Amino acid sequence: RHLLERIQQQDERYNSFITVTADEALQQAAAADERLAAGDAPAMCGVPIAHKDIFCTSGVRTSCGSRMLDNFVPPYDAAVVESFERAGAVSLGKTNMDEFAMGSSNETSFYGPVKNPWDTNRVPGGSSGGSAAAVAAQLCPGATATDTGGSIRQPAALTNTTGIKPTYGRVSRWGMIAFASSLDQGGPIARSAEDAALMLSVMADSDPRDSTNLQRPSDDFTRDLDQSIQGLRIGVPREYLAEGLNSDTDERVQEALREYEKLGAELVEISLPHTQLAVPAYYVIAPAEASANLSRFDGVRYGHRCENPADLRDLYMRSRGEGFGEEVQRRILVGTYALSAGYYDAYYNKAQQVRRLIKQDFVKAFEQVDVIMGPTAPSPAFKLGEKRADPVSMYLEDIYTIAVNLAGLPAMSLPCGTVDGLPVGLQIIGNYLDEARMLNVAHQYQ
Ligand code: GLN
Repeated sequence: RHLLERIQQQDERYNSFITVTADEALQQAAAADERLAAGDAPAMCGVPIAHKDIFCTSGVRTSCGSRMLDNFVPPYDAAVVESFERAGAVSLGKTNMDEFAMGSSNETSFYGPVKNPWDTNRVPGGSSGGSAAAVAAQLCPGATATDTGGSIRQPAALTNTTGIKPTYGRVSRWGMIAFASSLDQGGPIARSAEDAALMLSVMADSDPRDSTNLQRPSDDFTRDLDQSIQGLRIGVPREYLAEGLNSDTDERVQEALREYEKLGAELVEISLPHTQLAVPAYYVIAPAEASANLSRFDGVRYGHRCENPADLRDLYMRSRGEGFGEEVQRRILVGTYALSAGYYDAYYNKAQQVRRLIKQDFVKAFEQVDVIMGPTAPSPAFKLGEKRADPVSMYLEDIYTIAVNLAGLPAMSLPCGTVDGLPVGLQIIGNYLDEARMLNVAHQYQ
């Protein structure tokens, strides 16, 4: 009740929720009370959370931030939503996001931009900006999110929250609306590594309904939080602390690294030589997959349908033209072009080859080090509108996060101080399936 009231009083300022499910939340809370009274409740029982509006919720509109799905009420719950329900968590509602998770500022949402609680003239990051802002504004202690190229970590960095992008295949994508299926991964945004670990323990489960799921049973990611990190080898990629990084952000990250040295860790300079190729490769692969995934929104099966179509072609064209916003249309065009006959080898195949090189950079680095650290985003939160007209400068927001998705590795962002009152994020990249250690390393700093 306290949080529902808080949302009602404060969220006009942030616009972090698209839908608030007050009645359902109170029912779930009452059921959780009963379980708690019975004495065998799991850790998350009764904990209020929110779901990014990309996760299907049975009977509750799931818009994906798009006019296209403004009227879409799924008949089933996403695997992640089911898991939290089983764990007894209470869902307060659905959080705002960039349209179809395409963006780094939450300005492409059909429901209007989200404002950063640290400065409401600034963006909260994206695409999971609603989840990050809701946690930062203390409207809920944790929220689900998704990360295709940085959409959990970058908003976490810009709002002083902690966000995890798990190993690809850890968290079921079933019922999570697809953007780029080989990159998409769900994860939590919370206020600390410990809280995020609790949430990840609920989310990371095996699921035969997702063919790319690793089918690993859920784990207790809080178990190793208190381990010593004496002797830990931290790789610091020289390509990450280079040109393009805001100097104050650099300083905060350096301070965090020195703190780790004090905790007994050893810093090892490493190289990820193909870093510069990650953003260009991503902007071929992600739009290519998006163009295929978004072909299902045709005005026939579900979602927006234009008025009085003249014929089938007109139905497709106007329904899609009206339903999708500018950035989504740009991605569909880019992706369709990259996949078309004659360009497929030159662009799509080439990008896949580059992807392999990027992955190998990390495999080699992890022969030398236990985790990799650097900045999450090149600078603190920017002003609303500042990058809207320049897609390339927006795309560079993810310069330190995108390679991780291309490689399928786990990574997280945690707060490491402020610059002029705005939060800065430290990124920790772990080896495959090494989330427990990554969280241990984050918790020791916090
Ligand atoms: N900002 C990137 C994009 O716009 C990543 C988004 C995401 O991770 N979903 O595609």
